[in-house]
Amino acid sequence: MHPFFLERPRDLEAAIALRAQAGRNDAPVEYIAGGTDMVQLLQEYVRRPERLVSLAGLLDNRIEVGPQGLRLGAAATMAEVAAHPGVIEQFPVISEALLESASPQVRNQATIGGNLLQRTRCPYFRDVGYEACNKRAPGSGCAAIGGENRWHAVFGTSENCIAAHPSDLAVALVALDAVVEVKGADGERAVPLVDLHRLPADTPHIETVLEPGEVIAAIVVPASPVARRSHYLKVRDRASFEFAVVSAAVALEMDGTRIQQAHIALGGVGTKPWRVPQVEAALGGASLDLAPLQKAAALAAAGAQGRGHNDFKIELMQRAIVRAVETAGARA
Ligand code: SF4
Repeated sequence: MHPFFLERPRDLEAAIALRAQAGRNDAPVEYIAGGTDMVQLLQEYVRRPERLVSLAGLLDNRIEVGPQGLRLGAAATMAEVAAHPGVIEQFPVISEALLESASPQVRNQATIGGNLLQRTRCPYFRDVGYEACNKRAPGSGCAAIGGENRWHAVFGTSENCIAAHPSDLAVALVALDAVVEVKGADGERAVPLVDLHRLPADTPHIETVLEPGEVIAAIVVPASPVARRSHYLKVRDRASFEFAVVSAAVALEMDGTRIQQAHIALGGVGTKPWRVPQVEAALGGASLDLAPLQKAAALAAAGAQGRGHNDFKIELMQRAIVRAVETAGARA
């Protein structure tokens, strides 16, 4: 494992001050919270910080459900959020996305703030035996373009990186218009989750809009008429501990047997969680019959760019949307 010094600051302000001095991504000083992703990357020498700043005990871990919606302290674990009765009842897409993520052991340790900031599962990024990876070594190229790209994105890619975003939770939260509360050296600010992650463009190593030292403090999900009738469908290569090939987070408001309002975000297909507003608009007023659902889902393909091995995702995501809408629509 890559060796490092562990800092245990007395409070969050001290932690932010330590991290803020060190620059943006893959800096010589990085945060560590649950550590489930960071430790893997240290073991494989993918990340090589000189110092890690522990956030243990410095962040809120409360889960609060009220008339305004849901507020999740960033240090709440995946398991705690997934098992919370208010989340299960009023925001089922969140609980389902978490339960379909990782293993029980990882869910008990990993924080939800860290889950949103986990790094891509692109095998070329995670194996330093491959030299060409612009995300790990800026300017080195992209081994996935022209290489094995079955797991990679069809939306939001560039000629510098086609890595898919790995978080299931982020997809569910984007469908519910969640907002991230961020704290940093210059104070606090709110960032819509849909804007937290950057497209790779020509700087794939810079993955979020967070400034040096900024930390996710909480995630807020506003109360919404679509949240209760929601569902997360994940298609993956095996039934346990696997990342999404394609996923669909769907949240619906129904008017009798017709869809009044639909929110849909896709996972496994974008370089960040991917909303499909054209599908959402087409579902407005639609019944839950197969034909109108398939017609609306077909619109998701607009702008998709396969790279060969991942071409199948373009049809698979349409099928995932249809099934997820059917499931959500059937809920009471
Ligand atoms: Fe690296 Fe991105 Fe290419 Fe994967 S897709 S090899 S993460 S640059």
